[in-house]
Amino acid sequence: MCGIVGYIGKRQAAPIILDGLAKLEYRGYDSAGMAVFDGEKVNVKKAVGRLKVLEELTHDGATMPGTVGIGHTRWATHGAPSDVNSHPHFNGDKTIMVVHNGIIENYIPLRAKLQKKGYEFVSETDTEVVAQMLDYYYDGNPMETILKVLHRIEGSYALGIMFADHPGELFAARKGSPLVVGQSEDGCFIASDVPAILKYTRTVYFVDEQEVVRLEPDHMHFYTLDEEEIEKQPTTIEWDADAAEKAGYEHFMLKEMYEQPKTVTDTLLPRIKKDTIEIEELGLSDEEIARIRKIHIVACGSAYHAGVTGKYVIEGLARIPVEVDLASEFRYRNPILEEGAMVIVISQSGETADTLAALRESKARGFKVLGIVNVVGSSIAREADNVMYTWAGPEIAVATTKAYSAQLIALYLLAMKFASVKKTIKEEEYKKLLRDLKRLPDQIELLLNNKKNIQHFANRYIGARDIFFIGRGIDYAISLEGSLKLKEISYIHSEAYAAGELKHGTISLIEEGTLVAAVSTQPELYQKTISNMVEVKARGAFVLAVTNEGNKEIEKAADYVIYIPETNPYFANSLAIIPLQLFGYYVAVGRGCDVDKPRNLAKSVTVE
Ligand code: GLU
Repeated sequence: MCGIVGYIGKRQAAPIILDGLAKLEYRGYDSAGMAVFDGEKVNVKKAVGRLKVLEELTHDGATMPGTVGIGHTRWATHGAPSDVNSHPHFNGDKTIMVVHNGIIENYIPLRAKLQKKGYEFVSETDTEVVAQMLDYYYDGNPMETILKVLHRIEGSYALGIMFADHPGELFAARKGSPLVVGQSEDGCFIASDVPAILKYTRTVYFVDEQEVVRLEPDHMHFYTLDEEEIEKQPTTIEWDADAAEKAGYEHFMLKEMYEQPKTVTDTLLPRIKKDTIEIEELGLSDEEIARIRKIHIVACGSAYHAGVTGKYVIEGLARIPVEVDLASEFRYRNPILEEGAMVIVISQSGETADTLAALRESKARGFKVLGIVNVVGSSIAREADNVMYTWAGPEIAVATTKAYSAQLIALYLLAMKFASVKKTIKEEEYKKLLRDLKRLPDQIELLLNNKKNIQHFANRYIGARDIFFIGRGIDYAISLEGSLKLKEISYIHSEAYAAGELKHGTISLIEEGTLVAAVSTQPELYQKTISNMVEVKARGAFVLAVTNEGNKEIEKAADYVIYIPETNPYFANSLAIIPLQLFGYYVAVGRGCDVDKPRNLAKSVTVE
């Protein structure tokens, strides 16, 4: 999910690779490495930590001479950040080098197969299996070998591959992870993102899904997985380097919102095997799941809001009582954890100080903790008894969008897993829920494509003083997150209220023209929420409703309606949050706020 740079040509490869990787640093990474062919053999250097370490180790590339090479900055997904887990990965005699962005989902059975044939693995990564498999199938023809391997691996990848006995060629392939190649007078380049090579060329080719590229010093050839050559048109990049980092999006936040269909897919699909949910990393047998009496979800900020949703979904589907706590409260309130309790902590960074403290508190009391974490190798990932990773990739914008969406998916998966073990839902319902889960990425995409309308609507509210979000049940959880998105980046005061609670105080804050966003995705609560909408409308509010397709009745009580596609009500958060994220974003943009770096906030809150 992080950086790849490859070069073949007339110039020294190492400085070009280091320079390109530095241009990708903004994406975040935990280690770096590079392999360069020196005319006789391939030299490899890897180092955990900043790119600077690799630069120093190689004297800015001077100690790695050669005109063909590949480099990588890693965002660990499988195996902690360490020297040995860094890329490039290679075969036993270091003649085949591989850098990889993405996840090889079926690496476990593939690795087992190779181990039976005597292959020894040195790292914990999923990537190493690609290098070893290339070795296994290698018959002197790199292209054919690569295709054989690509036909056998599942998951997502952008790959850069180098064979020591074919130093005049470099290979690249893509499925699900971004990849570009480019050509200048001096050579050809591979990169996971345009900024890495913008200094050398503005003429790039975006590698499409399931395409393979063979690069020579002065040529590039594109192939399908069936080895048919393809003609491709180059794209001339007009963006400046800053815009290029954001892949043309105005802000990282917008880019990350657009990554949500992929994030949801990546977090979901590896855990669905043959139409059953399998969460290997859960570390609980069915008997242990059956013994869970209560779940405590502990988190901060948006992760807490994901947890509130998790409460409704887990309680609804698996009928296990769930208590959700803000980590900063949990740790000091002497929480009552009784036999049969399970603790789940949620954190994007895995470094959130309060959440980490809550984890330690629970462990000290003898309870096992499951972490739902995005950053591999982070403190929470290391200290939790079991970790369920969200595969959202690095998130740069301070206001979370894609990591939050991935956390929701992790919680849905847990709820369904528990429900199936506890037999609280019927086989038919389970199947239907699975179908609905799989449809979410396309539905999210659809909602994102509606951004123009939302931008238009948001522009009316850039001068607002207060904005309210109301909803019941899961819609309340959605309101919490919608409200936070808006206020954290636009600095407009906003509150989320359980719709039924308004009349107990907050309704006095409604004035002529106050915007109230009413979320209504739970059919059995439609009427109740409509009543609350009517109440605020009678006091002068302008009511924006976010509801399910087909709920036409709401138009009677709302001034403006955003419809979300049909899904199971338990999963509605994943869809309803999209227009609310866009709304918060466009209000903030309209007000000229620094969307990616809102004032006073930090991405990872490592203090109490
Ligand atoms: N899954 C690979 C690993 O953990 C690649 C990670 C990346 O995209 O940087 O090593």
